[in-house]
Amino acid sequence: MRLCVCRLTLVTLAVSLVAQQAAAELPPGSYVKLRKSAPIVLSVRITKTAAEKDDVAALHRVACTATIEAVERAPEKTPLKADDTVAFDAYYLSSKAAQRGFAGPRWPHGLKALGLEEGWRGRVYLKREEGKANLQPAAYGESFQPLPKKVDPAAKSSQSPFLLGAAERDVTPPVGFDITHYVRKSKGVRDPLYVRAMVLSDRSGNDVAIVTTDFIGAGFEVCDQLRQRIRKELGIQETILNASHSHSSVGLGIPSEKPGDNSPLNTYHKRQHQAIIDAVAEAQQKQQPVALYAGRAPAQVGFNRRLVNDEGYTFMGVNEKGPVVPWVNVLWARSQRTGEPVAVLFEHAAHPVIVPHTSGLTSADYPGAATARVREELGEDVIAMFGQGCGANINGFPLRTTHENAELAGRRLGDAVLEAMAEGEPLEADTLEIRSGRSWLPSNDPPNLETLAKWQQWSSNNPVRTEHLKKLKRLIEQNQNPPPRRFDAYAVMLGNDWCLVTMPHEMFCQYELWVDEAAPFKHNMTFGYTNGGQGYIAVDEAWKLKERGGYEAGALPNWGGNGSMSEFFGPPQVGSEKIIKDTIQNLWPSR
Ligand SMILES: [Zn+2]
Repeated sequence: MRLCVCRLTLVTLAVSLVAQQAAAELPPGSYVKLRKSAPIVLSVRITKTAAEKDDVAALHRVACTATIEAVERAPEKTPLKADDTVAFDAYYLSSKAAQRGFAGPRWPHGLKALGLEEGWRGRVYLKREEGKANLQPAAYGESFQPLPKKVDPAAKSSQSPFLLGAAERDVTPPVGFDITHYVRKSKGVRDPLYVRAMVLSDRSGNDVAIVTTDFIGAGFEVCDQLRQRIRKELGIQETILNASHSHSSVGLGIPSEKPGDNSPLNTYHKRQHQAIIDAVAEAQQKQQPVALYAGRAPAQVGFNRRLVNDEGYTFMGVNEKGPVVPWVNVLWARSQRTGEPVAVLFEHAAHPVIVPHTSGLTSADYPGAATARVREELGEDVIAMFGQGCGANINGFPLRTTHENAELAGRRLGDAVLEAMAEGEPLEADTLEIRSGRSWLPSNDPPNLETLAKWQQWSSNNPVRTEHLKKLKRLIEQNQNPPPRRFDAYAVMLGNDWCLVTMPHEMFCQYELWVDEAAPFKHNMTFGYTNGGQGYIAVDEAWKLKERGGYEAGALPNWGGNGSMSEFFGPPQVGSEKIIKDTIQNLWPSR
């Protein structure tokens, strides 16, 4: 018995070492390079697989037998030709080894994730290795690329149901500009700010531009303007415009109409707009037939930030037990011509507030580091795009500390994106549909005049509040309510396979969790901060707390409360949660 354990340990150790070596050998930027330099590239159809059963090994071998459909690359002397039978090995990581972090996302975790079975068709990247009977994978877990199931091999790339292109532009503001939030002067650039665009269309001509930006936010007016311009100048029906909400960044501004306004700020705002138009135009121009994939991996950049004190008041802190969105959602496209990734769109929900507000350096915070990490692995040609989810009540962790911490959190998120890609699956959809709906969220009812008089008394030594309460008084006297908030929701749907739901404003993460439960699709992705915004949108439970609702949901006389200083005089009314959910649900096909 003892001997046996010993032997097992040795085997585990040996295989672990191999796995570790494999991981260590792989330089950043890697599997694209490895595929490019693979000596043998074949299109095959698998006829037989035999999975090795070994409970101790970290890497499990699957011996595959396949029929060659086409030889895409092979050394001259290799006797490989179409219709021949070829034998090669594939490997996947055991779940135990995966838990211990071996080889990260480079090997699929589990046989199912490897996806190789009888009837599988795809491109394989192989090499011959001394002492091995079968050919070996040349690019680790990325050596096997399935072809979309619906595509007829004879028809090749022209039959791909989707076209996609992607592009980016640098929009870093000049040093000396105000960055926010908190507002401070930019003294330099830690990492640049970008706008990035992908244009996706189906064969019936339905199309959408998805634009992600490193801006802190964008209002309805500026989003309406840009969406209209894109429709008019580029003929793209719908645009989804997301702000990452980086707090070491700038807002998306509206260029002034004044002729001859050459102020630095106006010049910059014009540059922001032109950059978005140019990125979308280039993405449209670069459209090519692609295969689309979707996946998800565990990821958590931050913690819920709402805690309640003894008196029942909500305050901001680190609530490790509060709800968060514990994953990253990923959609990516591979060129049908080259098999290489073209663009990766990923979404996570957390305030980019890890960079300290005392730093004078412009930064995209953790989302910037995450996109950089993804490109380090996939190559600089790949456009990696971060979309902010419903992150209103989640703060990146550790809050306002260092640029290095933001980078670390971002790199971890990037690793999760790569993991989701390694385990994702091809979409079978062949149609793109975009639907949108608008509703209005009623604002809190104003108080009666007696209550208002009390608030006026408390605020008598504060001229700004006094002025604001005067406006509220006028409203009450005219028997009017504060205006409602605009709520525009979009659903970008790929058959029944995938759906991107977008919401404006800073939405509580509970909405994203709800979408994931309620949406009738195989894969979901959810954006907040999209196509406009007017502050925080909490949930009924938080609004019911009234003045105890804290920064994102509190009502007057809580002056920290969301919207108190705005034309809305406080948050939306209890009941708005249902309006929001109904608006979104109406966009989906019924089950
Ligand atoms: Zn915020």
